[in-house]
Amino acid sequence: MPQSALQEFVDQHRRLFVLTGAGCSVNSGIPDYRDADGAWKRAPPVTFQAFVAQAATRQRYWARSLIGWRRIGDARPNDAHRALARLEAIGKSEILLTQNVDGLHQAAGSAKVVDLHGRIDQVRCMGCDGVSPRKALQERLERINPDWLALEALVAPDGDADLDGVDFSTFAVPACPHCGGVLKPDVVFFGENVPRPRVEAAMRHLDESEAMLVVGSSLMVYSGFRFVEAAVRAGKPIAAVNLGRTRADALLTLKVEAPCEAALGFLL
Ligand SMILES: [Zn+2]
Repeated sequence: MPQSALQEFVDQHRRLFVLTGAGCSVNSGIPDYRDADGAWKRAPPVTFQAFVAQAATRQRYWARSLIGWRRIGDARPNDAHRALARLEAIGKSEILLTQNVDGLHQAAGSAKVVDLHGRIDQVRCMGCDGVSPRKALQERLERINPDWLALEALVAPDGDADLDGVDFSTFAVPACPHCGGVLKPDVVFFGENVPRPRVEAAMRHLDESEAMLVVGSSLMVYSGFRFVEAAVRAGKPIAAVNLGRTRADALLTLKVEAPCEAALGFLL
């Protein structure tokens, strides 16, 4: 079999800055946010501003999350995650920056990972900044909301679920057990900034890299796209694997329109 253009790209560059998105996790049962044209497939998720300002939004969020978490919590890595773990194992990966919050890269064995948008398996208190496992909160949510467990719904990539036409006003939202503060999933919401130290750490890795490899992202969200802009400014070549259009198509050295597992199969 002839060597693929992507394999050549990987062979040619010693240290890759890898940026991954939802396309990586589709085959793990976590659906993508956007269709091939980069448009929203469904209603956009909860914003940070609404989550902070409105108790009703938090009730709706945690009720949907109570249902959605079952699927996210059970997800397992697929061959795309395993191929990228292999890329690190052979010394090619400077860092893996992921826009996914599912933790599946780490589950597949990647250690050099920056979770750009946080981790859905953790909860952070907005009062005392304490971090606790999402699993423990799930047990509390289920204990104090037994009537809600029967609801089934579609699941979104952030562990959210569609529950249209439901009255959430009776849903009980637990507070931080230490300070009584508002609990928030430890993920960056839409309308919220990625913590600056996290961006700076990733940018330092980009400086150390020779090239960039984007896997399964349409790059529509600026928090990820800015690394493409920085790579272009630094004259680093960029390859992308994505089904459909990306915001960076005009900037790419190489574009591979294929499922992530198939495109990266040469690594396994
Ligand atoms: Zn607290």
